[in-house]
Amino acid sequence: MEKIKLEEGIYLYRFEKALGHAIGLNTVVIENNGEALLVDTGYEANFLELKDDLDKRNIKITNVVVSHFHPDHTADLIHFLFATKYPPSFKKRKPFVISGSHGLSEFMSRLQEAYDHWLTLPPEIMEIDEIDTQEKVERKYPGFKITTRPTNHTPNSLAYRLESRSGKSVVYSGDTGFCEEIIDLAKGADLLILECSFPDGKEVELHLTPSQACRIATLAGINRLLLIHFYPECLATDITAQCRKSYTGELILGSDFLHINI
Ligand SMILES: [Zn+2]
Ligand SMILES: [Zn+2]
Repeated sequence: MEKIKLEEGIYLYRFEKALGHAIGLNTVVIENNGEALLVDTGYEANFLELKDDLDKRNIKITNVVVSHFHPDHTADLIHFLFATKYPPSFKKRKPFVISGSHGLSEFMSRLQEAYDHWLTLPPEIMEIDEIDTQEKVERKYPGFKITTRPTNHTPNSLAYRLESRSGKSVVYSGDTGFCEEIIDLAKGADLLILECSFPDGKEVELHLTPSQACRIATLAGINRLLLIHFYPECLATDITAQCRKSYTGELILGSDFLHINI
């Protein structure tokens, strides 16, 4: 695991692509005064490594935002819920809010049912916040502000604009095809994090290519772009070259094959 400071209080946890797995994982965490907002929980138990780092520094997760319900974004919810239900410091845990689109409550209930309620948390610990995908929604928490727009991926996919207390803003697309909503949400952000699943020439409707991602960044006036969520087809190509055809701002690739100093 590599931890990269993106902005004051905003970190990217980058995990190596494990043998036999399709994609490496990147998770963004926003910290504020001992509290953390976690953006998607990921999968392949990467969450436990990340949690270790937060635990060591006594940072408690108070918010989780879920972009959509595909396994590569939510499988580690199992580890998250189980670790929250039975932490060594049971009494010291903090209540948290988990936000996602309509269907989140049902998704959580079905997950908890599947595990015969070994993942069920008392309501005073976990609050479920279902966000309307039809509107631009804003939520304010003590250390973070969240704004959402729907994306072109599944009927319950959300992109998040996350603002830290210092005023720094990060926009995370989750999975998406090209859409106006993400351009609108990203305008003026300090950092835009976009998925980039497939290379130019192999466009897939509900995901982005480097060129499409860069077009979004350019239209949103972004000067700092981080691309993540590469499928092997994309990693096999020169992603930077595809980006540089149209995007001139700072470019960071969340790929395992590149080393970036920030
Ligand atoms: Zn997806
Ligand atoms: Zn995905």
